[in-house]
Formats: sequence, C-alpha cells, structure tokens
Amino acid sequence: MNKIWDAIIIGGGAAGLFCAGIAGQRNKKILVLDHAEVLGEKIRISGGGRCNFTNLNTSPSHFLSLNPHFVKSALARYPSSAFIKLVQSYRIAYHEKHQGQLFCDESAKQIIDMLFSECAKGNVLIRHPVIAESISHESEQWVVKTNNGIERSRSVVMATGGLPVPAIGATAYSLDIAKQFQLNVIDPRPALVPLSFTSGEFENLVELAGLSLPIRIAAGSKGSRYGACHFHEDLLLTHKGLSGPAVLQASSYWVEGETIQIDWLGAAGVNGDLSCDEVFNDEENRLKSTESILASVMPQRLAKAFAEQKNLLGRKWAEVSKKDRQVLKELISHWSVKPAGTLGWKKAEVMLGGVDTKELDGQTMMARNHSGLYFIGECVDVTGHLGGHNFQWAWASGFACAHAL
Ligand SMILES: Cc1cc2nc3c(=O)[nH]c(=O)nc-3n(C[C@H](O)[C@H](O)[C@H](O)COP(=O)(O)OP(=O)(O)OC[C@H]3O[C@@H](n4cnc5c(N)ncnc54)[C@H](O)[C@@H]3O)c2cc1C
Repeated sequence: MNKIWDAIIIGGGAAGLFCAGIAGQRNKKILVLDHAEVLGEKIRISGGGRCNFTNLNTSPSHFLSLNPHFVKSALARYPSSAFIKLVQSYRIAYHEKHQGQLFCDESAKQIIDMLFSECAKGNVLIRHPVIAESISHESEQWVVKTNNGIERSRSVVMATGGLPVPAIGATAYSLDIAKQFQLNVIDPRPALVPLSFTSGEFENLVELAGLSLPIRIAAGSKGSRYGACHFHEDLLLTHKGLSGPAVLQASSYWVEGETIQIDWLGAAGVNGDLSCDEVFNDEENRLKSTESILASVMPQRLAKAFAEQKNLLGRKWAEVSKKDRQVLKELISHWSVKPAGTLGWKKAEVMLGGVDTKELDGQTMMARNHSGLYFIGECVDVTGHLGGHNFQWAWASGFACAHAL
C-alpha cells in the first residue's frame, strides 16, 4: 500500500513505454499511468499502420527546436542503429521505403507489442485508464493523485506527447505540469500538417484533387523561429489545399502570414529553369497550344489548369506574348503563394514547441530546477522532420531519461 516507486511515468505512448521498459530492466520500480483505454494508439496509426519507427539517417539536422543542439547528446547515446537492433532481436521484419525511412513489413502493432514485452521484462506496472488529477512535490517525494488513489515516487516522468489528434486522447497535460512548476513552454503549433488556401490562384487547382507530383518547396526565412527550409519531395493536391510529404515538411517551417514557394518542375533529374526555357524557346513548339507545351514539363491536368488560370487555354504558343510567357514561367517555377492556414490539430502529425529545452538537462531530460521531474518525447520543444525522426526522438529521449532515473 505504501510502496514508493522509483518513477511514475505519466503517458504510456512511444516515449513513456520505451523509457519504462529500460528503467524497469535496470531494476527500477516503475509505474506507468495513462488515461487512455487503449495504449499506443499513435504508434498504431503511424506510417499508415506500418509505423515508420526510425530513420537510418537521423541526425540533429532533422529536428526543429529553439536550441538545435539540445538533441545531440540523446541521439548520440541512442542512435537509430540501437533501435534497429532491438527491432531485429524481436524478429520484426522491416524495409526501407525512401530516404532511410524504416517501416514494419506487417504492422505497427508489432512495435507496440515489442514495447509491452520490454516493459514486462522490467516488471513495469501499467495502469490505465487512470486519470492523473494532480502532481506535487512534498517532503522529497513526488505525489501523484489519481482517480484511483494516491501514488508516491522518487521521480515523475512526463510523457503525454503532443496535441495532434485529440480524438485519440492527446492532451496538453505535460505542458500544464511544466507551467505549474514555472518552466517556460514554447507556444505549441501543429506541424507536419496539410496547408489550406483561399487564394484565387488556387481555385481551379481544387479540381485536381488526388494529383501527386514531385516538386521543390521552400518555406520559412532566416529570421523566423526555425529558419528556412528546402525540400524536394512529392506534393499532393487535395480538396482542402496542399498535402503530401513536401508540404507536410514545409508546414513545420511555415509562419502564418508568410508565403511558400513551389517549383512545380521538381521532377527528378529536371532542372527547372533550364527545362522551362528549353521548352519555351523551342521553335518547333510555335504552333502548339500553351497547355500542351506546359504538359511537356508537368502532368497534363496541371498544365491545363495553369494555362486556364492565365487565360491562355487553347492559345497557340506563337501568339503568347513575352510578358505572358514570363508570367507562366514564374507561375510554374517560382509559385509564391500565401497559405490561409493549416488543417490544425486534427490533421497534424506532430507538435512544434513544447517544454523549453533551456529548462531541461540534455543528458537526462530532467528539469534543471526540479530534481526528479523529467520530460520526454513530443512534449519537449523538439520536432522531427517527416520520416521516422519523431519516433527516434521518443526512443532517444526515453533512453536518456531511463538511464538517469
Ligand atoms: C497520424 C500520425 C502518424 C504518425 N506517423 C509517424 C511515423 O510514421 N513516424 C514517426 O516517427 N512519427 C510519426 N508520428 C508522430 C509520433 O506518433 C509521435 O511523435 C510519437 O508518438 C510521440 O511519442 P510520445 O510518447 O511523446 O507521445 P504519444 O506516443 O502520443 O504518447 C502519449 C501518451 O500519453 C497519454 N496521455 C495524454 N494525455 C494524458 C493525460 N492527461 N494523462 C495520462 N495520459 C495521457 C496518451 O494516451 C498516450 O498514450 C505520427 C503521428 C500521427 C498523429
């Protein structure tokens, strides 16, 4: 009844379960509390059900944080190769999809089962659904009041993740606890999220929903919170705006009110301007329609939409003025457009912002001014690029914390 835990971990998601397993196997008495009926839901829905559990190339440059150096120590101590070894030891089959992204061959559930097995090996007690009602520090002990009684421990690890997908139980509890202990919190914002548009320029592109093509995209600026980015990935046109890996990546850098730049000629091996100039200046194209000329460098439906947008649909190329050609060139190779917003927390994959890394020790994830209070995973102001980096952060920060407990 009066058991004192070595640590109570609030949140049994990726970071919480991973940390619990390791700490338990290091002979720590660990209790995990989670308010959800079913644990590991974000893992289950990740990577289209196959969980992109890490990335072969994960490095500090794949993360956004006000302090980009913060991730270095944890990632160096627990690199993606370490997690891959664990996955291999469970004989979970996986494959590389794109740019080092590793996915389960079968199901994300295998990663969840693996985390539970690791917890079982460490005799971790997992209680859920349990609501943590308050957390306080009294006479050198951490006291967690729940709807099911009071628990005491030497440490508390906050691992309740970020705000995306409220429907599966996302809350700001870790951020609330950080604030309760006077830790600075960087404003949370949806990231890796589709962008919406109201601009007239976008109107006739809505009809192309479902079209996907490789493009180059740029967002942010040197002076903005996380700097500027350039990605060469696929873009997906949707009924609500733009999505696909290129746009999700750019959304993390995009700042409200600013434009994003798209080079629609981003197909592999095509050098945008050169190919555009070559096609535009080719004498043999004089009698072709504008849309068919554009269609030689981009999908036909998109070529038609752009020609239509500039009132050049059906117009013979010889009849298109120099000025209009320049306008078209700008449109297809330097499209600068202001998104109206993002599709918000419902559609975001991760959260930007969170507990300010200045408040935490990068070796242990412990709050500098509150001995025994830790923050791991997505609730920390560390956000990965698309491609398995966010899980790698969950594992690496969980590992650092587990060894410090
Ligand atoms: C649709 C989608 C797809 C994704 N795909 C990928 C991918 O393929 N690769 C990748 O690297 N990342 C992916 N991510 C991001 C990844 O899921 C997260 O970065 C990762 O799960 C964060 O781990 P975490 O432990 O910090 O939080 P979570 O895994 O979200 O765990 C948080 C836990 O805390 C619990 N909790 C919340 N509030 C409370 C509370 N008040 N009290 C008690 N418990 C609470 C929750 O129930 C949950 O179990 C995806 C995210 C989404 C939404």
